[in-house]
Amino acid sequence: MNPWTAKAVVLAATVVLMAIRAPHGRRSRKVKVTKTCKTPRETGLLVLAWVGFFVPLIWVATPAFRFAEYPLRTGPLVAGVACFVIGLWLFYRSHADLGTNWSVTLEVHEGHRLITQGVYRRVRHPMYSALLLYSIGQALVIPNWVGGLSNLVAFVTLFALRVGPEERMMAQQFGNGYAQYTARTKRLIPHVW
Ligand code: SAH
Repeated sequence: MNPWTAKAVVLAATVVLMAIRAPHGRRSRKVKVTKTCKTPRETGLLVLAWVGFFVPLIWVATPAFRFAEYPLRTGPLVAGVACFVIGLWLFYRSHADLGTNWSVTLEVHEGHRLITQGVYRRVRHPMYSALLLYSIGQALVIPNWVGGLSNLVAFVTLFALRVGPEERMMAQQFGNGYAQYTARTKRLIPHVW
């Protein structure tokens, strides 16, 4: 199959992801921060996430990763598009539910509320579930080892190193309320983990 099909899908998914995030990014910059946990490690993770996000676009636009190419097949392409659709829907819903409590890094905002409803009812990190699905979508759709896996590697690293500090920050901020929320929810997959 023509790799341009995969390139069109990846570009469309990237545009939708950025369109969902953009208004929240603008709004978040106006909210007052009362506590920040932005350590050098957290900054490094954000840089890694940006690199992981941009490498697929380099694959779309240039032949730089031609050495790592393999043939595009229909099965992985269709499965990847399904991951994109579900992941982007969840990304949209988790932003809508978190509202002004969302931030790109680990911080507490003025008037920060603990959200436990909507897509936060069964899992504590639906936005990370969304980004994981999105990264799996890229790995399935992009027929290239470098372009396809970059986001997945970056995101799994970010998640593994960030989820502990994030949950500790939330526990400090919301005390017993967060402990009860943790007891009745899973991290990424409802009823599983
Ligand atoms: N881990 C969450 C949110 C990612 S955004 C998810 O995957 O859906 C990161 C910021 O969201 C953190 O700085 C924290 O302040 C905020 N946050 C995380 N969970 C929250 C919740 N349940 N209610 C309110 N804010 C939350």
